[in-house]
Amino acid sequence: MSETTLGAQGEVTLGVMGGGQLGRMFVHAAQRMGYFTAVLDPDPQSPAGRVSHHHIQTAYTDPAGLEALAQRCMAVTTEFENVPAHSLATLANTVRVSPGANGVAIAQDRAREKSHFEECGVPVAPYAVIETPVQLATVADDLLPGILKTARMGYDGKGQIRVANRAELARAWTELKHVTCVLEKMLPLQLECSVIVARAADGTCVNLPVQRNLHRDGILAVTEVYEGNLPPTLVEQAINAAKSIANGVQYVGVLCVEFFVLEPDSVAAQALGGLVVNEMAPRPHNSGHYSMDACDVSQFELQVRTLAGLPLTQPRQHSPSIMLNLLGDIWPADGAPPWAQVLALPGTHLHLYGKATASKGRKMGHLTVTGASVEQVRATALQAASLLGIAAF
Ligand code: ATP
Ligand code: MG
Repeated sequence: MSETTLGAQGEVTLGVMGGGQLGRMFVHAAQRMGYFTAVLDPDPQSPAGRVSHHHIQTAYTDPAGLEALAQRCMAVTTEFENVPAHSLATLANTVRVSPGANGVAIAQDRAREKSHFEECGVPVAPYAVIETPVQLATVADDLLPGILKTARMGYDGKGQIRVANRAELARAWTELKHVTCVLEKMLPLQLECSVIVARAADGTCVNLPVQRNLHRDGILAVTEVYEGNLPPTLVEQAINAAKSIANGVQYVGVLCVEFFVLEPDSVAAQALGGLVVNEMAPRPHNSGHYSMDACDVSQFELQVRTLAGLPLTQPRQHSPSIMLNLLGDIWPADGAPPWAQVLALPGTHLHLYGKATASKGRKMGHLTVTGASVEQVRATALQAASLLGIAAF
């Protein structure tokens, strides 16, 4: 192994661009393995900055901040996909950066992302790129009703407008300030799922089990992972697709690929096959949080391993699990949700991200439920959801 040293052999620091909850859980995983950590995030109260050994509080593009991060770290990763590609390139001049600027740049742009998926032979929703009024006027009728999505900077359903006809499409593009967009055909979804893969520089690629995801208002609400959550043929298809997408960019790091599973008897399913790729995230993902409690290697440990050049082995899920996202919506105006009642249920694991204020749609934490059987996990998760005011699923 290369320059990697653990714990007692010296102070080896791993860095992360971005101080949100994903950075925080990366920091926890790195520290558990004996690494020191450095976070670059301008916010003094950022969830990851508050728990890291070092917190560089500058803008993501600040040359002095980037230099300080590069100097301190053995390698640097990212926790949000909209980190300026130029900053990653600057860092890469003097320190190892993974994932590399190329993989991140593809994930930042829906149009490039879709071409990459097509090149990897994985079906995507029918779409058109809209950059000019002529392109707007000439989109195929077949793409409506559809969803107009900004090509860049979207997350949690932001920057997306559902459109039923051409008049609505024109209005939506105006509302989105005529930035480059992708119009996607609205597909009949049976369900949604995602796969997290980790790929090492030598091409070794491992995966977490396929996650079944429920979104509400464009935000992930519930992830269910256990044997039988999806038909076996689909599981295999999704894992193979995610791996070919990672291999296609010689990706090094943790990558999450999100999929749509189409209504089996629909016209769309006949045209596209049952499984369509939606998008990829060049980092650990909300749908992989269950792995911290239900797998022998979590998605954050996979991130540490790929970053430090440590070996990858296939993770094993040891418990069926369900994750509930804890959004700001469930916080009472004065005080906190009923944690004591929730934690009195066996197999509940509470993760809070240390955010000072709760607001609607803000990801404040998550709750993972594990247990001996799927029935038990489902029953407990539904009880916890009911105590927390989360709708049943
Ligand atoms: P994320 O937080 O995952 O990055 P996002 O803002 O990038 O979200 P998408 O993943 O593109 O948004 O879409 C959010 C949700 O909207 C999807 O998970 C799905 O439920 C629904 N959706 C998006 N595109 C389509 C489509 N073409 N047909 C049907 N439903 C769709
Ligand atoms: Mg998404």
